[in-house]
Amino acid sequence: GEFRLLDFDRLSVLGSGNGGTVHKVSHRRTSALYALKIIHRGHPGAADEVEVVRRVDSPHIVRCHSVLPTASGDSALLLELMDGGSLDSLVGGGFPEAALAEVAAQALSGLAYLRSRRVVHRDMKPANLLVSKTGDVKIGDFGIAEVVSRAGKYRAAYEGTAAYMSPERFDTERSRDGGVDPYAADVWGLGVIVLELLMGRYPLLPAGQKLTWAALMCAICFGELPAIPDGASSPALRNFVAACLQKDHRKRASVADLLAHPFVAARDVAASRRALCQVIEERCR
Ligand code: ADP
Repeated sequence: GEFRLLDFDRLSVLGSGNGGTVHKVSHRRTSALYALKIIHRGHPGAADEVEVVRRVDSPHIVRCHSVLPTASGDSALLLELMDGGSLDSLVGGGFPEAALAEVAAQALSGLAYLRSRRVVHRDMKPANLLVSKTGDVKIGDFGIAEVVSRAGKYRAAYEGTAAYMSPERFDTERSRDGGVDPYAADVWGLGVIVLELLMGRYPLLPAGQKLTWAALMCAICFGELPAIPDGASSPALRNFVAACLQKDHRKRASVADLLAHPFVAARDVAASRRALCQVIEERCR
C-alpha cells in the first residue's frame, strides 16, 4: 500500500464493462503507466473480484499492484497496463495460425496457474485476454471469478456472456451440486476464443445472426461446430479446437492435456511470438 489514488493522473479511458471503467493513468512522481479499474461498491461480485485479484500472482495473469479505496467508497484496482489492449479488438482480418498457437499457449499457462489457486475465471472471452506489444498474453477481469471450495462446489449461475458459456453451464441445477468440473468451462471459453480469432467473427452462430439468449443456448448445447475449411487451418489446430469444444464436459480436454497438445507444444516458440507481435503491431496503428 505505498500507492494513493491522488498520486495518479488520469490520461484516458481504456474501456468499460459491467464492473466499472478502466482508465489509463500515470504515477506523478515516477511517470510509470498503469491501468486503473474502478469497481463500484454496489456491483454484485465486487468483493469476490477483490478477493481473487489478491489471491493470484502470475506472469500470465494481469498483475494487480494495489487495491485502493476511493472517496466514494468504491475500490480501485491498480493494474499493470497492457499496451496492446484486449483481443476483442483483434477479431477480424485474419489471424495467422502461429500467432493463434501463441495466444492459446499463454492463455493455457494462465488457466493452469488459476487452477493451482483453485480459481475458475468463468468469463473467458476475447475482451478478457489482454496483450502487450512485446507479445505477452494475460488473463484479466476477475469480475465473476470464483474460488472453488474443497468440496468442488462453486456458484453456478447464468453470469458472464452467454455467447462464451459452456453447455453444462446452461444446466445450472446440475452444475451447482458439484457433479460438474468447474474448470472445464474455462477450457470451453478458450476454444471459442481461438475459433473466433481464426474465423474473424463470433463462430457458433451463422454470420449476421443476432446473439439472442435462445439462439445461443440452442447452438451451444445442441448445434454442430462450424466447419473450418481444410485449407484455412492445420489438422492440429482443428483437433485442438474440437478438444476444447467437446460438449460433454467429462470428455473435454483438461488444461494439462491441452498444454501437451501438438498445436501448442510443437509450435516454434520464437516464430509464434513474432507472428503475434506482428498482428498486434498492425492493428495498433
Ligand atoms: P469489466 O469487468 O467492466 O468488463 P474489464 O476488466 O474487462 O472490465 O475491462 C474493460 C476493458 O478495459 C477491457 O476489455 C480492456 O479493453 C480494457 N482494459 C482492462 N484492463 C486493462 C489493462 N490492464 N490494460 C489495458 N487495458 C485494459
